[in-house]
Amino acid sequence: MSSDAEDIARQAAPIGHGRLQWRILIGFLSGLALGLIAYTVGGDAVWVDWLVAYVTGPIGQIFLRLLFMLVLPLLFAALVVGISEMGEVRTLRRIGLLTLGYTVIVSSIAVAISLAVVNLLRPGDGVDPAAARELLAQGGEGARSIIQASAESEAGMNALVAIVPSNVVQAMSNNDILAVMFFALAFGVGLLLVQTPRTAQLKDTIEGLFEVAMKLIGLVIQLAPIAIFCFMFNLSAQFGWDLLFKLAAFVGVVLLALGIQMFGVFPALLRVIGRKSPLAFFRETREASVMAFATASSNATLPTTLRVADSQLRLPPKIARFVLTIGATANQNGTAMFEGVTVLFLAQFFGVDLTLGDQLFVMLVCILAGIGTAGVPGGSLPVIALILNGVGVPPEGIGLILGVDRFLDMCRTTLNVVGDLVAAQVISAVSGDEVDQPSVSA
Ligand code: ASP
Repeated sequence: MSSDAEDIARQAAPIGHGRLQWRILIGFLSGLALGLIAYTVGGDAVWVDWLVAYVTGPIGQIFLRLLFMLVLPLLFAALVVGISEMGEVRTLRRIGLLTLGYTVIVSSIAVAISLAVVNLLRPGDGVDPAAARELLAQGGEGARSIIQASAESEAGMNALVAIVPSNVVQAMSNNDILAVMFFALAFGVGLLLVQTPRTAQLKDTIEGLFEVAMKLIGLVIQLAPIAIFCFMFNLSAQFGWDLLFKLAAFVGVVLLALGIQMFGVFPALLRVIGRKSPLAFFRETREASVMAFATASSNATLPTTLRVADSQLRLPPKIARFVLTIGATANQNGTAMFEGVTVLFLAQFFGVDLTLGDQLFVMLVCILAGIGTAGVPGGSLPVIALILNGVGVPPEGIGLILGVDRFLDMCRTTLNVVGDLVAAQVISAVSGDEVDQPSVSA
């Protein structure tokens, strides 16, 4: 399994790596600078509108449509594989269930914290509503039709019932994320329950689908510098300097939310359930944190994480190996939090009022997305684009956060990896010695 994870990390390496990072940064800064000049000099000039409508707008749209094209197969495959791997090792089924339960509960806490922080501080508020509406109106045709589909979705009890799709093809064509995720979950569980040579083949095929989707997303991301230039130009030509302050507030809120989980929730879990001193834990896991920060990829950090669990934390190897390998893709607290903050921030920015129902939807999707997001640099981005569409926030907003994404990616990946180690520590403590006995040989 670990080699799978490493393979995938290698496949997707183009996302956010090496020179591309610099090109993205250059695209971001030059788009921002030219947009600000246009805002200062041109203001409402016709040529600025023309440029946005016929050049920078459409280029950004094409980039987004390419991402949307790939995100459903990617999410479906990642969820099916993630779930089915949780129970793959027969002897570890109990640990698998514990890991699943732990992941869902701790991710829920994480997402709840991030939504609370962003609702309290409201970093995206205060943008000129007229300008925001104008930008909303400009949303490309494709994005608008997807948004429309989800705006017609049910409310209240019916929304709950609608999570179970009666027609999965229809759910996919309506971009009904929760229903598709439900189907993927059910499919993953089914794959767990039937273990024959044919289902093993099917699982291989779905893993293949995942790798192809990752590869294609890697190629699409190569276009990111141009797309980001266009996004930043559009946004800064219309919002001016306000944009910079909002962006700084966004970074601050993401860091605050991640910090609460890292230095509040994790120490509590370690002390109460994991029977470990948080200070000693953080000291012993330093190597994995640094590696996660540097690579911005949970999967690439996996070998280091495994070593730390073994030589520093001295966890039972069987449990640690299992929890950490699955966790590198499926237990991503930082990612779930980041996705929650980003979606709500952009909703505030564009003046889209999210009802309690909408926020619960975001929360549910983020919890599942924590399981379904690939542990590679920039893994969150396609998922965020999808959620934005689901709640009617212009997906162009993603251009706003792409420019600061690398730094935030490094931070959230650190939380993801430390969270995996906390999970391994807690689950080891809960399961006692039973799995640590040499009798478990499979
Ligand atoms: N880079 C993250 C990780 O590898 C995933 C993401 O949130 O983009 O854990």
